[in-house]
Amino acid sequence: MRRNIALLILATMWLFSGSCKKFEKAGQLNQAGIALTFDDDRVDNWFEYLDLFDSANAKVTFYICKYNRFTPEQKRKLAIIQNRGHEIAFHGTNHYNMMDYVYRYRHTMDETIKCEVADGLKLMNRDGFYPTSFAYPYGAHNGLFDKMLMRYFKSVRALNGTNDFSMSQASTEKNEVLFGLGIDKSSRRSDVNVADVIRSAYNNNTCAVFVSHDINTSKKLSVTIERLHKIFAQVKQLGLKYYTISDISK
Ligand SMILES: [Zn+2]
Repeated sequence: MRRNIALLILATMWLFSGSCKKFEKAGQLNQAGIALTFDDDRVDNWFEYLDLFDSANAKVTFYICKYNRFTPEQKRKLAIIQNRGHEIAFHGTNHYNMMDYVYRYRHTMDETIKCEVADGLKLMNRDGFYPTSFAYPYGAHNGLFDKMLMRYFKSVRALNGTNDFSMSQASTEKNEVLFGLGIDKSSRRSDVNVADVIRSAYNNNTCAVFVSHDINTSKKLSVTIERLHKIFAQVKQLGLKYYTISDISK
């Protein structure tokens, strides 16, 4: 009798686990979250805020351009940023607008990819950086670029220039094309708006992808420290996860 009951329990457990699996979608996010990304070559500025990120337990993504002009000291700082758990991603060798480079200045696609991607990547690889995520300078891209760049990266990030914020919500861990939402002063986005986007990630179990450049400088392409503190507080309050871009581009 006891044996029969044990078998019945096992059979129920097996059935239950089977039915659960049926509704599980592959590649879906387990936890809602946000991805903070920072573009360009502002390693000295970012370096000053590593303790701030640590205090929030935030791992973020830095998309690097113009690595060929980095000083040894800046390369050292970038290595420290990587060792502190942040993602070092790629943002072009020279920060050219790649669409203009091809369609306006009449370079071939292969020339453009060699100049703006392969050459710059090689320099970074030589120093121990292996970016797997790419962000388009000025967000300029098309489907052909997206396809070509998949040979080098797991994902490409463009910009969300629309009011459709759902474009900036990644819903799986296997994204190829992402659209970051700007939160610098230049975006003129309100704190309420940013909070709504984060709240939406929480409600829909997605990852909100944000884009910034400098941290707390006088430039327009800079996110204020007050905004970062507000974001950190909301993430903590909602129990959200910080994703790097490679976390959601497998
Ligand atoms: Zn840029």
